[in-house]
Amino acid sequence: MESSSIEDFRAARARVLETIAGACKRSGRDPGAVSLVAVSKTVDASRLATAVQAGLDLLGENRVQEAESKCPLLPGARWHLIGPLQSNKARKAVQLFDAIETVDSLDLARRLDRLAGESGRHPTGLGIYLQVNVDRDEAKSGFLPEILQGELHELSSLPNVRLLGLMTVGRLTGSAEEARPTFARLRGLSERLTGEHPSLGHGLSMGMTNDYAVAVEEGATLVRVGRAIFGTRADVPKGSASGR
Ligand SMILES: *Cc1c(COP(=O)(O)O)cnc(C)c1O
Repeated sequence: MESSSIEDFRAARARVLETIAGACKRSGRDPGAVSLVAVSKTVDASRLATAVQAGLDLLGENRVQEAESKCPLLPGARWHLIGPLQSNKARKAVQLFDAIETVDSLDLARRLDRLAGESGRHPTGLGIYLQVNVDRDEAKSGFLPEILQGELHELSSLPNVRLLGLMTVGRLTGSAEEARPTFARLRGLSERLTGEHPSLGHGLSMGMTNDYAVAVEEGATLVRVGRAIFGTRADVPKGSASGR
């Protein structure tokens, strides 16, 4: 297992924040409005402990089971779930995560609402992002925009979840520029829906190592960056929904 020093992580963090700042400058945005989720899937807890010390204290995991083994070892971190959530893992997810970025159906939102209410762990509501399949890509999960529009009224009424905003994954092929239309569409959708539903937050989780600068130019408030911080991941099994 490769290791990294605290200096390595400080430098990696500084590089990513600089890239974010550059994108903010180009688009007239405030860098303070963009948060960094360090995507820590496959990274072991001892490396993560160093990363947290270096200021990377908001971590993103894509599997509940993996998070279950790491979260207790890293009490100084906050955790976002960025991978698909099966309903039988929802209870565990509510216990482990500070926010769930991959809520892709009304059913799942209702379940999380109920479990968050029972758990008592989220007194101001469990933070969720509504994942949107803006590209209508059959390979991706997420609400189709018109479905979300139709269900947002009920989503807004759930008492134990807080709708922090929308989340999407850009096109996985080719250049960062190819992801721009996806990000622009998510922002457009957010502007429309937050106008109709004030309880929907303005958060936009979009952008990964390959395309986060473009995502910030298009309005991301949360970028999910793994490889640019932790290096290339060992291969994850083909077919795992969001492992790359
Ligand atoms: C793995 C993953 C990321 C991070 O990808 P990198 O290319 O390592 O930056 C971001 N978002 C989701 C949903 C992921 O599964």
